[in-house]
Amino acid sequence: MKRMVIALLVVLALFIGLIYALLQVNWLSLLGLERLSANTEQTLGEALWKVQSKTFTLLDSTHYYSAADTILQRIAAANGIDRSTIQLHIVENAEPNAFAMPAGHMVVHTGLMHATTSPEQLAGVMAHELAHIRLGHVMKQLMRTVGLSLIIRMAAGEAADMIESTAGTLTTMAFSREMEAEADATGVKYLLETGVDPEAFAQFMEYIQENQTTQVPEWMSTHPDSGSRAEEIRKLAAAQSANKAPAQLLLSDATWLKVSGLR
Ligand SMILES: [Zn+2]
Repeated sequence: MKRMVIALLVVLALFIGLIYALLQVNWLSLLGLERLSANTEQTLGEALWKVQSKTFTLLDSTHYYSAADTILQRIAAANGIDRSTIQLHIVENAEPNAFAMPAGHMVVHTGLMHATTSPEQLAGVMAHELAHIRLGHVMKQLMRTVGLSLIIRMAAGEAADMIESTAGTLTTMAFSREMEAEADATGVKYLLETGVDPEAFAQFMEYIQENQTTQVPEWMSTHPDSGSRAEEIRKLAAAQSANKAPAQLLLSDATWLKVSGLR
């Protein structure tokens, strides 16, 4: 009897051990699915952009593009990021939104440029989106929402209806809480390396929260509420303040005045 109990206990312990070991394995990364091949992402990114861009009013004015591009170039240069890997698009839309799409596409609404009161605030949102791109969040989130087989089919040019509906969801794609926290932390690091005080981003977050628009922009889209996210950004900035590069002028006043809405 005693032997049987011991044998049972041993089996139980082995079973628990096995379950524990299985839980420790990161299956997604083991199977190589965490980041799909760059090629798949590139093809999918192009297909989605082709569909998505038709729904946008792409802006003809060079003022907006060059203001956002200058900010992006500064952040990229200060953080060792190849600017040519990011496709920047300015879209005429009153919502203060910006979002990332597969293959490094970053879309910035004119409404965001009008709602921000300084280039530093705009840089805060752009750094957050750049972080989503650099951390591979867009494809990870697509894996979660549409799944691997559909991603592969869409990249192969099949499932046209799916490409259309997926493109539509990208403007408000909700990332996980962890991804948002990660993008905020990396965004703060990018800003500090660029010599931009992340306080501007925290303040803009609070402003948007108090003046909530109908559609919640991507960079605000998730729990925890933006009040505590703004606080978190301040904490992150304080913790990394030793890495802060000397403050630099992101844009000249003349350039900024051409694009800001002077709210
Ligand atoms: Zn985000």
